[in-house]
This record gives sequence, structure tokens and C-alpha cells, in this order.
Amino acid sequence: MLILNNLVKQYGNIKAVAGISLKIDEGDIYGFLGPNGAGKTTTIRMIMGIIKPDTGFIKLNGKDINSKDRTRIGYLPEDRGLYQKQRLLETICYFGMLKGFNKFEAHENTKTWLNRFSLENQENRKIEELSKGNQQKVQFIIALLNDPDLLILDEPFTGLDPINQLLLKEIIQEKAQAGKTIIFSTHQMEQVERLCSNISLINKGKIILEGELRAVKDSKKTKAIEVVFDGKVDIEKVENYLENVIVKENFVSGIVKKDHRSFLNWINKIVDVESFQVKIPTLEQIFIDEVRESR
Ligand code: ATP
Repeated sequence: MLILNNLVKQYGNIKAVAGISLKIDEGDIYGFLGPNGAGKTTTIRMIMGIIKPDTGFIKLNGKDINSKDRTRIGYLPEDRGLYQKQRLLETICYFGMLKGFNKFEAHENTKTWLNRFSLENQENRKIEELSKGNQQKVQFIIALLNDPDLLILDEPFTGLDPINQLLLKEIIQEKAQAGKTIIFSTHQMEQVERLCSNISLINKGKIILEGELRAVKDSKKTKAIEVVFDGKVDIEKVENYLENVIVKENFVSGIVKKDHRSFLNWINKIVDVESFQVKIPTLEQIFIDEVRESR
């Protein structure tokens, strides 16, 4: 389990991170969301020990995180710096050996991942000759190489085509199923909706929304409702409960004035309700609303 406790990082008079506390459980796929400049990368860099928090602390599995723990974290940095003149296979093998493999193991593991990412026929090319997306895949392989228990990926989907995004998603899901923990930052809300168990949304260095994705979405249910029924309803009576009413033959929709339940109780007595749907906003809508509200 990873705990961030009241992390603060200030640059001049900018509070990049202004008191972030989070708990991330083993096996979580955790989405770290927020607008540009919110403080996501700064927080990730503090977890990785690249910068020190001004105040606050980070615990991994109950103990203060240390540099040995960090060698076991698979990290995809935002600035994807690789030595450009080195060849792909040597680059990955080199990192494999830094992570504790002998030469043979590093080579075998590298080969396996190069195949998985369809990079096997590029292994002798220099990094600088690879496309941006392929360079990113190389960095992702480096993060995965020693099968870490915790993966921290700073904007992993950026720059990947849809097929590679799908591959990345599959690998993240496989790792989570194997009990690994994955934290990633992204601006791609659809990926978060598809993948994440938990999220936090940060703005101006502070968490403005946090929790299990399903619960977060449930808590933001809109007041819009649609009911499909069998029978007849009187539009004027519906207007006691709903605004913006639309009534068709066996369908009524609108915005509840008080709550969903009182409207459903009423309509259920008058007609046979076949189905109803309370609208749940998309994560993208929640993101926009919450960030605007917290400005
Ligand atoms: P993005 O989605 O654009 O990558 P982010 O959420 O990762 O943004 P950070 O990179 O953490 O945001 O930046 C948070 C704030 O801290 C920004 O205002 C940024 O300008 C500032 N900041 C980050 N690093 C430094 C630094 N080394 N020196 C000065 N200011 C910094």
C-alpha cells in the first residue's frame, strides 16, 4: 500500500503541490487526473525521489519509502530521456542489468517484450532512429522489465496510436490481475473510465475529488431521468415532479424537481414502469465541472 501524507512542494510562490494525501491499495489501477499544471508530475516525482517534498511523507507498505524500494518501482517518466545513440536491444538490456538481471536474463526478457510490442525487427536500430511512439514503447518496456509490484506511468497513452493504446491497456489489466498496483496520470478520460478502479482529481496542487471510480460517478448522478412504461400519464401531473418534461407514447423524461424516488413512487402507482434510467455523467463531464467549480 502506498500512502502520501500531506505532501507539499513549492517553487518560488507557486505551490505546485499544496497538501496532497492519498492511499493507494495493492491491485488498484489508480488514475491520477487534473488539468495542465495541477501538480501530477510533481507528485509522481516526489514518489520517485527525484525531488524532495518540502513537508509531508510517503510510506510504502507501512515504512518510509527508500531508494531500494524505488529501484523496484517501474517508472515511465514524463520526459522520456534515453541515450539517443545507443541501439534499442542494448538500451533495454542495459537497464535490465541495472535492475539486477544477468546478461542472459536481461537479453531473454528484452526479447520477450520486444516481441510483445512488435519491435523485434527494430532491435538493432539506434534510439534516435525510432519514431516517438516506438521510443515510448521502449521506455514502457524498461518500466516493466523486472515485473515490478508498483508501476507509475506519467501520461503513458500520450503519443501512442490506438492499437498501441489497446496493447498498453491490456498489459495494465494483466498486471492488475496479477496483483500489481498501477498508478498513471492521463488526460484521456475514456482510458480512465475503461481501466481505473480508483481516481483522484487534482487542481492547483490539491485533491478536489477522490475515491472509487464507480462511487465517484454515482455521487455525480444527474437529476435527469427517463422512464419507459406501459399505460397513460397526464403531462400536467408529471410536471409536479419533473421540469423540461418530454412525454411520448410510452416514454417520459425530464429533470427531477426534488428527488428521483418520489417521482418513481408516484409514476409507479399510475402506470407499469418497464424501465428507468438515471443519467450518470461521463468522467470527462465530471472533470470539467469539478475543475471549473474549484477555480
Ligand atoms: P501537465 O498535465 O501539464 O503535465 P502536471 O499536473 O503534471 O501538468 P506539474 O508539472 O506537476 O503539473 O506542475 C505543477 C506546477 O508546478 C506548475 O505550475 C509548474 O509550472 C510548476 N513547476 C513544476 N516543476 C517546476 C520547477 N522545476 N520549477 C518551477 N516550477 C515548477
